[in-house]
Amino acid sequence: AKKTTQNSYSFYDLQFKKDAVYYAETVSNLKQAIEKGEFELYFQPQNNAQTGTIVGMEVLLRWNHKGKMIPPDLFIPVAEKSGLIVEIGNFALRKGFKTAKKWHDEKIAKGRVSINISARQLTHLDFINTLKSMLQESGCEASWIELEITESSVLENPDLVINLLQKIKALGFYISMDDFGTGYSSLSYLKNLPIDKLKIDRSFIMSIQTEPKNQIIVKTTIFLGNELGIHVLAEGVETEEEHSFLLENKIDSIQGYYYSKPLPLNKVEILLQA
Ligand code: C2E
Ligand code: CA
Ligand code: CA
Ligand code: CA
Repeated sequence: AKKTTQNSYSFYDLQFKKDAVYYAETVSNLKQAIEKGEFELYFQPQNNAQTGTIVGMEVLLRWNHKGKMIPPDLFIPVAEKSGLIVEIGNFALRKGFKTAKKWHDEKIAKGRVSINISARQLTHLDFINTLKSMLQESGCEASWIELEITESSVLENPDLVINLLQKIKALGFYISMDDFGTGYSSLSYLKNLPIDKLKIDRSFIMSIQTEPKNQIIVKTTIFLGNELGIHVLAEGVETEEEHSFLLENKIDSIQGYYYSKPLPLNKVEILLQA
């Protein structure tokens, strides 16, 4: 690191050092976590906004590290940067497929199991083959699975991603655009990508009561989706007010604490059996 004056590092050097140390430590912890099998899947229901029936389940990763449940926001960015996301993401896919198969065998499946795919995972050389072999391995059908892609993964390499999504669609998977509205040029994607569902980001829903502009954005997005024949889901719905605003504006489905927090397998199966 550069010294500004003798013996005193600049703030930026120090911050950089701290970040570099944190990064290196987390990478090494993540590698161990993969070896030791410390990752678990939680599931959050998606509900029909009118009837409240469960229409899907999003798979959300948790890292069970030394007795603490570490949320993905703390390790996914490092996993992406280091490339470990491919292995960790494949774990979520494999386990997600197995779970969907189990629920179908037990006749308690309600809608699709929805799995997050990071940009790095999607554009990894083997992704399409990985999907195919995981389907065979698990006995799961592609139509039971939804893959969530973010706008930013499209942005990084639009031509490649369009091509990949067409292949994924041809295998029979359902595709959703996650965190909709937080990236760029969303509208051209809607025209060019084989998207089945939009997930309106929580940041728009959170401030729906206080920000008239967000009301307009949310209303317009729902209208757009409805007109284009794309399913629209709102994420992060917590309150009665948010729920009724969305229902009035003809949202298809809702995911959020209003219905349920993400739950471990045994708890979510109780909901499915009900
Ligand atoms: P996301 O895909 O946008 O997932 C929704 C996040 O919002 C989840 O956070 C969920 O617990 C949270 N959430 C849902 N409803 C509510 C609500 O009503 N209020 C509030 N305050 N929060 C709500 P979580 O589980 O911490 O995951 C964070 C992010 O980590 C996810 O955001 C996703 O981008 C990423 N992630 C999680 N699992 C995976 C995975 O298997 N692969 C990849 N690539 N990313 C993952
Ligand atoms: Ca998601
Ligand atoms: Ca999301
Ligand atoms: Ca989000």
